[in-house]
Amino acid sequence: MNFDHIYESCRLCPRNCRVNRHLSTGFCGCGDTVKAARAALHHWEEPCISGTRGSGTVFFSGCTLGCCFCQNYAISQENFGKEITIKELSHIFLRLQEEGAHNINLVTATQYLPSVLKALDLVKSRLSIPVVYNCGGYESEEIIKELASYVDIWLPDLKYFSSELSSRYSKASDYFNAASKAVKQMINQTGAPRFDSDGVIMEKGVIIRHMVLPGAKEDSIRLLQWMKQELPEEMYYISLMSQYTPFYQSGNFPEINRRITSYEYGKVLDKAIRLGLDQGFMQEKSSAKEEYTPPFDLKGIY
Ligand code: SF4
Repeated sequence: MNFDHIYESCRLCPRNCRVNRHLSTGFCGCGDTVKAARAALHHWEEPCISGTRGSGTVFFSGCTLGCCFCQNYAISQENFGKEITIKELSHIFLRLQEEGAHNINLVTATQYLPSVLKALDLVKSRLSIPVVYNCGGYESEEIIKELASYVDIWLPDLKYFSSELSSRYSKASDYFNAASKAVKQMINQTGAPRFDSDGVIMEKGVIIRHMVLPGAKEDSIRLLQWMKQELPEEMYYISLMSQYTPFYQSGNFPEINRRITSYEYGKVLDKAIRLGLDQGFMQEKSSAKEEYTPPFDLKGIY
């Protein structure tokens, strides 16, 4: 695939807007110039990603999903950020490496992929740490295939099984159809998870994140059953998250305008354990704090 011309008729994600991003914007609201809101060491990812020194996280503006509860809504939905050139982005990657980052963590980069890949090309001979692709899971299988030589660690969400829920809360009725294929492709690419010589920091692999939503534990359980049936055992990690907090427009949906209960999280966790899906990370319910959202203050964007 030639990424050079894809902005001219954008199909970078399953929305397939086919807009000319040089002239206009599609669902994600992004043009053809990279915009980002923060590039800094981040300590709130899974332990094998953040390690002791932090993950070199770049938070891109805009998003291909429209989640009503997004904790990063200021950048994802309101598009806060600063435009940067491809060269500046490549310098950011090198600077994060110099600061000691365990990896380069691209957060919601899909809408800028042609530019991000060019920035990675500029520094690939000097970048010695893994590249993490941290995304909402709503990805095109065809695009994921093209990223095999760029991405070492995939960190996708798998948010919903039900298209009713994905349509209601994220404006994407085809979410599971796209995300299920994308996740399979990611696992095919990386093979079994691989760690550094201390067995602590991930160097290659897939971590599937799932955040349990209020009132939706049955949907979480259906997702777990699908993972058990469809994904190769021990080839990926699960991160089962309890941190749901009703941010952004959650108030428009009374059923999710609350935190999840210990009962809800416990039921999903029990099911994961009973299915043998216990390779991964579970959260203490008390860990649901806003520290997971860093300040979007343009730190490191220069
Ligand atoms: S990246 Fe943006 S413009 Fe391109 S297909 Fe996705 S939502 Fe549409």
